Amino acid sequence: MTILFFLLLPWIPWGNRQAVWFNLSEQKFHVFGLVIWPQDLTLLAGLFVIAAVGLFFITTYLGRVWCGYTCPQTVWTFIFIWLEEKIEGARNKRIKLDQMPWTRDKVVRKTLKHSAWVLVSLVTALTFVSYFVPATTLYKQFFLFESSAGVYFWVVFFTIATYGNAGWMREIMCIHMCPYARFQASMFDKNTYIVGYDSKRGEKRGPRSRKTDPKALELGDCIDCDLCVQVCPTGIDIRNGLQYECINCGACIDACDNTMERMGYDKGLISYTTENKLEGNAAKILRPKLVGYGVGLIVMLLLFIYGAANIAPVRLDVIRDRNQLFRETDQGLVENTYTLKILNKTEQPHHYTLSVTGLPKDVQWLGRQQIEVAAGEVLSLPMSLAVDPYQLGRSMTKIDFIVSTTINGNIETAKQESRFFSE
Ligand code: SF4
Ligand code: SF4
Repeated sequence: MTILFFLLLPWIPWGNRQAVWFNLSEQKFHVFGLVIWPQDLTLLAGLFVIAAVGLFFITTYLGRVWCGYTCPQTVWTFIFIWLEEKIEGARNKRIKLDQMPWTRDKVVRKTLKHSAWVLVSLVTALTFVSYFVPATTLYKQFFLFESSAGVYFWVVFFTIATYGNAGWMREIMCIHMCPYARFQASMFDKNTYIVGYDSKRGEKRGPRSRKTDPKALELGDCIDCDLCVQVCPTGIDIRNGLQYECINCGACIDACDNTMERMGYDKGLISYTTENKLEGNAAKILRPKLVGYGVGLIVMLLLFIYGAANIAPVRLDVIRDRNQLFRETDQGLVENTYTLKILNKTEQPHHYTLSVTGLPKDVQWLGRQQIEVAAGEVLSLPMSLAVDPYQLGRSMTKIDFIVSTTINGNIETAKQESRFFSE
């Protein structure tokens, strides 16, 4: 699912662009109908906070399911392992293949495996880059050698990174480099779901034939076949108890269930369980830490939805002329000069009206007050205000510039404070 989502998302169209497009050159992020500008980056920060609180909530409840099922490192590692098994066979066959001299069969299998890994890595890299460069353009230009040097650099970089991580680094990333493994313990409690081995049922472990009654040999259900260790991507033995290297992938559960089935025993010697359950106590789902994370998550989500629904479609910035505070005109008026920057954050051109408040009614606006701004453009408009100084009570007056437009029948405005100097 994660992979399908990742692969297909850049191909979903939205109007005349792709639905999810991080347009770095124009500094705006498109997420379906939402356009996030650098000025709205608090929203993006909010998204990261939601992701973090969501991760805390899920981890407290279900343990490291993120690591086991959605972390790209795990997902890609399992794809690479699957390819390896299809091409070189099961673990014992692979060990034999590695030890044997370089025969034609070995060369063919190794070449095939690494070619498959490189192909998956290349598709991964192209997909990742297509979140930043429109997918249709990227694929066409890439294979016709018409992409920019930057695009080739990043595609090659991510191809090597994927190949190295999922093909060679694998569990080294999880055990030694991933910071999440280090602080997950602080989120765990005795009711958190973990992958656990039922030692009361499994011990004393030991090999036996299918027909033997383990009780007669004073053995538990673990036949010490070692399959749970062999399939573990981080190379641990779950029978030694909960370890920070365990990424909750469940591969040992499937391996052990197969063994149990073969032996005619009940499945579940290794299972998703809690420490409380393993100790024979009742499971408790609602606990203060989980409720706290849940409430935090809901509040953050509501704030984010409110923020996203209320992104202003226009932004106004005002820059005062830095060279001169004011100047007197031939008619005895005081004139202040500004540059107004009007940003049309929508994807259609709009007509805007500019005005100012805080000055006498007969203030003279020297410059354009009606403007058209193209979609996604910033228009810089130099202009001046001229006022009779006798109508101003102070040497410095606080004023507000206002830009307004009508979008879908609604009047949208943006306001920016500034100063008018007369002495
Ligand atoms: S112990 Fe089991 S669940 Fe944990 S990482 Fe190894 S195979 Fe996956
Ligand atoms: S797979 Fe199950 S039976 Fe085999 S060693 Fe592991 S726990 Fe024991």
